[in-house]
Amino acid sequence: MENKNYKFWFATGSQDLYGDECLANVAAHAKQMVAELNASGRLPFEIVWKPTLIDNATIRQTFADANNDPECAGVITWMHTFSPAKSWILGLSEYRKPLLHLHTQFNEEIPYDTIDMDFMNENQSAHGDREYGHIVTRMGIERKVIMGHWADAKVQDRIASWMRTAIGIMESSHIRVCRVADNMRNVAVTEGDKVEAQIKFGWEIDAYPVNEIVKYVEDVSKGDVDALTQEYYDKYDILLEGRNEKEFREHVAVQAQIELGFEKFLTEKNYQAIVTHFGDLGALKQLPGLAIQRLMEKGYGFGAEGDWKTAAMVRLMKVMTAGKKDAKGTSFMEDYTYNLVPGKEGILQAHMLEVCPTISDGPIGIKVCPLSMGDREDPARLVFTAKEGPAIATSLIDLGDRFRLIINEVDVKKTDKPMPKLPVATAFWTPKPNLQTGAESWIYAGGAHHTAFTYDLSTEQMADWAAAMGIEVVYIDADTTIRGLRNELRWNEIAFRK
Ligand code: MN
Repeated sequence: MENKNYKFWFATGSQDLYGDECLANVAAHAKQMVAELNASGRLPFEIVWKPTLIDNATIRQTFADANNDPECAGVITWMHTFSPAKSWILGLSEYRKPLLHLHTQFNEEIPYDTIDMDFMNENQSAHGDREYGHIVTRMGIERKVIMGHWADAKVQDRIASWMRTAIGIMESSHIRVCRVADNMRNVAVTEGDKVEAQIKFGWEIDAYPVNEIVKYVEDVSKGDVDALTQEYYDKYDILLEGRNEKEFREHVAVQAQIELGFEKFLTEKNYQAIVTHFGDLGALKQLPGLAIQRLMEKGYGFGAEGDWKTAAMVRLMKVMTAGKKDAKGTSFMEDYTYNLVPGKEGILQAHMLEVCPTISDGPIGIKVCPLSMGDREDPARLVFTAKEGPAIATSLIDLGDRFRLIINEVDVKKTDKPMPKLPVATAFWTPKPNLQTGAESWIYAGGAHHTAFTYDLSTEQMADWAAAMGIEVVYIDADTTIRGLRNELRWNEIAFRK
C-alpha cells in the first residue's frame, strides 16, 4: 500500500480594507505557517500555500482549481483577518472535496506591551473565523473544525489525523469490491443495498461466478506456486503438528496458487476488495485462508460469507492508514466467544481463517487443519495472536432506510493462557466502557458479528468520514451509557428520516 501523491491546499482569507502592508503580512505569515507545518514531520501529506483570498472571484477560482486538481485532497481554510463571508458563498457552494477550518492565529500570545488597533485588525481570527464558520454552517457544508495554535504538536497531530480522514473521503469512491459468489444464505447483517452504497460511498460492488476466478487460479504456473510456497516457508513457522511433511506442503501450495490467481484476477479487473463464501467454492480445493490473509496484508479489503460492506470498510481503513509510521494493523474480524470471569471480561475475536497478519504480535505460524464447515480439503492458514493496545472495531449496517456506522473503542489484551488447540489467528479485547455496557450497546445499535478493526485510526477519524458520507454514526466508548445510547438511537430515527 502506497499513498497517492496527495496534497492539501492552505487558503488564507482576508480582505483589502486594511491596506497592502497588512495583506503582505498575511501572506508572509501564512507562508511561514505552511513551511513550518511541512517541516514539522508530523503531517502525512504536504500542504501547499495558496495566494490570499480576498474576494468572490479569487475564492471561487481557488475552489474550482482544487476540485480540478487530482492531487488536491482537500482545502485548509483560515481567516487571518476579517473576511466577509458572502464572498465565500459561490466558491463554497461549488466545492466538493474535504474541507478543514483551521481556527488558529499567527501569534500564540497577546503582545501585551505593543498591541494596538493595527495589530488587532491584522490578527483577528477569533473574529474572522466566526464570520466564515457561520456561512459554512448556514450552507450546511460538512467540514472539520480544529482550534488551537498551529505550531502546537497536538494541533498538528489533529491536522494529520484529519488528513487521513480526507484521504478516506477522497478514496472511498475508488473502492471496487469483487464478490465471489453471493452472501451466505439466510444471513441478514451481511446483506445490504448495493445501489445505495454506491450512491453514499461510491463503492462499486460486483459479483462473479466462483469458477471464473478459479480459472485464474488454475492458470498459475507451477514455478510461481513453488516460489511463493518457498517464500511462505522462509517467512513463517511451519507447525506440522504431526502431519506428513510432504502432504502439508501440498496443502500450503494450494493457498499459494489461490493467492496468485486471485491477485491476478483482482489486478486485471481493478478490484481492491474481495469477499468469499465457504459454502460456494466451485472448483477451489480449499477455502481461501492463508491466501486471503496475505491479500489483506497487501492492502486488499476482505469480508467473509459475502460480507461486502465489511470488505469495503477494511479496504477503506487500509487506504486511510497507508504509510502510517508504527502502524499496528487493520483486519476483518469476528466476535466469537466471551470470557465472563469478573475482572477478565472480554471477547475472543477470530474467524474461520481470515485474519490479517498486520495485527500479529510476534511470530506467525502456518497450520493445516480440518474445517468443520464446507466440503473441501483442510485449508492452510496463518496463526498468531494480536498486538495489545487501544483499537476500534467498526460495523457498517444497513437498516433498510439508511446506513449506520457503529464504532466501538476496545482494549486489545493477551488472554490469560495460550490456546494450543485453536487453529486460527485471534485477538482478545474488552470493549469500552466495559464488556457489559459495550456488548449491550452494540446489540441495541444493531451491530454485526463481523467488524472492520484497526489500531491505527480513531473514533473521531471514522466518525468524521461517516459524517462526510452523510450517514448515521454511533459511538460506543468510555462515555457511553445505556440510557444515553438508547435515547441517541431514538433521536437518530428522526434525524435521519428521509
Ligand atoms: Mn463470519
